[in-house]
Amino acid sequence: MDMTKVFERIEQLKPDMIKTLGQLISYPSFRQQPEDGAPYGRPARECLRRALEICEDLGFETKTVGDMVGTAKFTEGEPSLGILAHLDVVPAGDGWTLDPFDAKVIDGKLFGRGAMDDKGPAVSVIYAMKALKDLGVPLQNSFELILGTDEECGSSDIAYFKEHAKMPKWLFTPDANYPLINIEKGHINAKFFKEAKRGVLVSMHGGKTINAVPASAEAVLSGVSAKEAASAVESAGCSAKFNITETETGVKLEVCGVSAHASTPDMGDNALTALIKVLAPLVSDEPCGSLLRGLAEKFPYKETDGKSAGVAACDEVSGALTLVLSILDFENGRFDGGIDIRFPVCTSVKAVSDGLGKALEEAGFSHKIGGSEPHCVPADSEFVKSLLGAYEAVTKKEGKCLAIGGGTYVHGTPGGVAFGCEIDGEDNRIHGADEFIRTDALVENAKIFAEAVCRVCNNPELK
Ligand SMILES: [Zn+2]
Repeated sequence: MDMTKVFERIEQLKPDMIKTLGQLISYPSFRQQPEDGAPYGRPARECLRRALEICEDLGFETKTVGDMVGTAKFTEGEPSLGILAHLDVVPAGDGWTLDPFDAKVIDGKLFGRGAMDDKGPAVSVIYAMKALKDLGVPLQNSFELILGTDEECGSSDIAYFKEHAKMPKWLFTPDANYPLINIEKGHINAKFFKEAKRGVLVSMHGGKTINAVPASAEAVLSGVSAKEAASAVESAGCSAKFNITETETGVKLEVCGVSAHASTPDMGDNALTALIKVLAPLVSDEPCGSLLRGLAEKFPYKETDGKSAGVAACDEVSGALTLVLSILDFENGRFDGGIDIRFPVCTSVKAVSDGLGKALEEAGFSHKIGGSEPHCVPADSEFVKSLLGAYEAVTKKEGKCLAIGGGTYVHGTPGGVAFGCEIDGEDNRIHGADEFIRTDALVENAKIFAEAVCRVCNNPELK
């Protein structure tokens, strides 16, 4: 099919896209107090209502499911393709130089919370639908836009939708990166703990969130001199920076490392495992001494593949397992810790949990381990090939599949893939201050989606 006219129409619609995106950004649709008919708070519900109104005005039939999810259907008939975007956002946070909920276009970039994640991509889908409709492009199968409002806080919207409506057979979410993510690693969250009486180790704190490499950690030791501590730091030879001070309760060690997402631990410098490495020889009394040495042995500083814990795994399609010891506190005679693991498709929740449980027990800890299996849609499937074909046709760039350690909006929905919209080498400051999307990208994304819809919905193998 010659898409020239559709693409021209999409270009004409650019001002409408900018206006619509500005309207959607004006709702501070982060999770707020639930109200009647607004399970995630008033702004998220109002944002969904407005988006569906816009779709209706453009001539699409809409539906709301449980005040959580909305759909806009292209034509009659049961949709075989779903495009899943979300209208909720994370809170503004600090550091904005502009009003996060009053969109502004500056030098071809539209700034505002949700511009890229994920209101902008949702708007591109709406106007791809509009262009296809204006030009009367025939589709053998229908498709629908599905708009959720709880992606950022656990995707309970999608769980509800699956129970009360029908998810189309083919599904993509423009809520990650181009070209296309077909593999999301499995995920393990482990908590471990142990009562232990206070001795040389008075207290210890490292890490706050389980899915991040901790950038800072600290401990207080009694009966250890600042000089002894400095010499232990010296012989540990960590790249994380240590600061040692004398306090009333004892010598205090503070460590400064580099934070990173738990799915890419090599980009960080774990302050907590650096601290454990230094403490292991310094804490000479029991039981704290052997507990710390056990952790140092099973989860050594600078090791991110889980080898010493006996859980290392790797395959060609999804890469290596990553392990981050991300939390450890010692307070009131008790250790409490957390570990985040992302594992490849060649292994399973059971195998990794069993291995990790054994390692923690050998180190002297009790544990509670849970997780989710990897998500995978084969790279050579007709659906994936159709989407990548659309990407290549519009962008003239090479389309290829990516495997990631994080989970996307389609994690746990069989057959779903992530398709767009961030591109390599551009930081749109998702979840950060001054989030933006290029207005040209709004147009290009709409073209890619229109092309993808034509290819998927007219492919007899993808009925
Ligand atoms: Zn998102």
